[in-house]
Amino acid sequence: MAGALRRKRQPVIGVMAVQGDFREHLDTLDAVGAVGREIRLPADLDGVDGLILPGGESTAMRKLYVRWGLVAPIKALATRGAPILGTCAGAILLATKIADGDEPVLSLLDMEVRRNAFGRQLDSFETELKMQSLKASGGPTTLRAVFIRAPEILRVGPAASVVAQLEGGEIVAARQGNVVGISFHPEIAGETRLHRWLVEQAATARRG
Ligand code: GLN
Repeated sequence: MAGALRRKRQPVIGVMAVQGDFREHLDTLDAVGAVGREIRLPADLDGVDGLILPGGESTAMRKLYVRWGLVAPIKALATRGAPILGTCAGAILLATKIADGDEPVLSLLDMEVRRNAFGRQLDSFETELKMQSLKASGGPTTLRAVFIRAPEILRVGPAASVVAQLEGGEIVAARQGNVVGISFHPEIAGETRLHRWLVEQAATARRG
C-alpha cells in the first residue's frame, strides 16, 4: 500500500527563480503535467527530484547563488543523481571553465563555455537543431531552438559528451551523466521534449 502511494507521488522539479526566465520553465512543466517549484533559498530544494537552471544573466545569478548559499545544495542534488538541466545562462553556471576569466560557479559539467559567443547579427536567432536524444534508446531528433545572446561550448572534457552542434560545428549542448547544459531556450520555442526527459529522469532517480 505504501508502495502504491509512493508511486503516485509525481517528481517535483525545482526551477531556480533568483533571476531570469524561470516562469517560462514553470509554464512548460505545467504544460507537460509536471509539478514545478520555484527555488530561491536552500530550503526550497528539500524534496526536489530534478532541477532547471533557466537563462537570464549569469553574472547576476552567480552573485545570488553565492550570497544565498545555493551552490553547495545544488551540487549535493547533482551528486545524488537528480537530473539537472541548465539552459543558456544556466549552462554557464554548470561549466567547469568559462573563457576569459570568470570563475566557474557549480563546476558540474566538464566543458568550457564562452559567453555571448555569437556575433552581433546572430545576437538572437531561431533554428531547427539536430540533437542526440537524451534517452538511452533514442537516436537524433530535430528540435526548435531559440538562441538569445547564447554561450558557445568551446570544448567538452573527457567526462562529458557533445549532444548537439550547429551546422557550422559550434557545440550547443553537452551532457555529463545526469547533468545537461544547452546554449538555447527550448521553453520559448514551445519545445517540451527536454522538460519531459527531465521529469522522466527525476522519477527514475527518485525510485532508484
Ligand atoms: N548572455 C547571458 C550571459 O552570459 C546568457 C543569455 C541567456 O541566458 N539567454 O549570462
